[in-house]
Amino acid sequence: LAEELRHAQKMEAIGTLAGGVAHDFNNILTAIVGFGTLLQRSLKNDNPYRIYVEQILSAADRATNLVKRLLAFGRKQVISPHPTNLNDIVKGIEKLLHRLVSEDITFVTSLSREPLVCHVDAGQIDQILMNLVTNARDAMPDGGTLTVTTGSDFLEEDFFGPLEKGKTGYYAILTIADSGTGMDGETQERIFDPFFTTKEVGKGTGLGLSMVYGIVKQHDGFITVDSEPGKGTAVRIYLPIVATKETAERHETAIAAQGNQ
Ligand code: ADP
Repeated sequence: LAEELRHAQKMEAIGTLAGGVAHDFNNILTAIVGFGTLLQRSLKNDNPYRIYVEQILSAADRATNLVKRLLAFGRKQVISPHPTNLNDIVKGIEKLLHRLVSEDITFVTSLSREPLVCHVDAGQIDQILMNLVTNARDAMPDGGTLTVTTGSDFLEEDFFGPLEKGKTGYYAILTIADSGTGMDGETQERIFDPFFTTKEVGKGTGLGLSMVYGIVKQHDGFITVDSEPGKGTAVRIYLPIVATKETAERHETAIAAQGNQ
């Protein structure tokens, strides 16, 4: 619990700091983009200095995107959850996810036949998927296999380790697995820390997994990570399934089956 609390406080402090810096920085960027655009417009098309102005504007554009992400990170996200079938969310964003990865990556989606109704904000789940698929892609520069799988499980009390706080019950499981570089133990310990990245400057912000962590927490879920250097990584997102007559019946069947053992 102390570890959880330390992490939450750290996230909070960094969020506030990032938000504050991002806000001021945004004002500076407005000046750069504004005057840059004026300068660009006042230069004739054949002016040799145009290219420099365009470079400045393009860099400012990248900075603006980064600042937007920082602002979103610093802000407490207001989520609007609705009972939604997780499989429908994956189907809805599948095409876009395919477009994120290169052709030498085999992308496999395997969805459970049963509906996985969870109380979620679909837009936030899209964010999770985009972040995890991007990470999987980056871990496979020479290609490989990326799988997105959905399923469910009834979790007993003994399932929950120190980092996997959760309540006993039915969970939907969203797994994003890759056959990429994997991570050593030292890296794995730090992946949820804001700004921790092993990617080169400009490629990674180190905010992807912190965001995923925040979203999953807000949905009363939890995350597990299995990774082996040279073999690959599987990230599992567990989200509580909305209790329905069907899940209640399955629960009873599961308990009865245990009694019979
Ligand atoms: P970023 O992607 O910007 O670096 P993240 O918070 O998403 O930020 O990830 C932090 C770090 O975790 C990455 O830089 C990388 O070292 C590691 N990582 C995350 N996902 C994977 C993966 N699927 N395979 C290998 N390493 C990963």
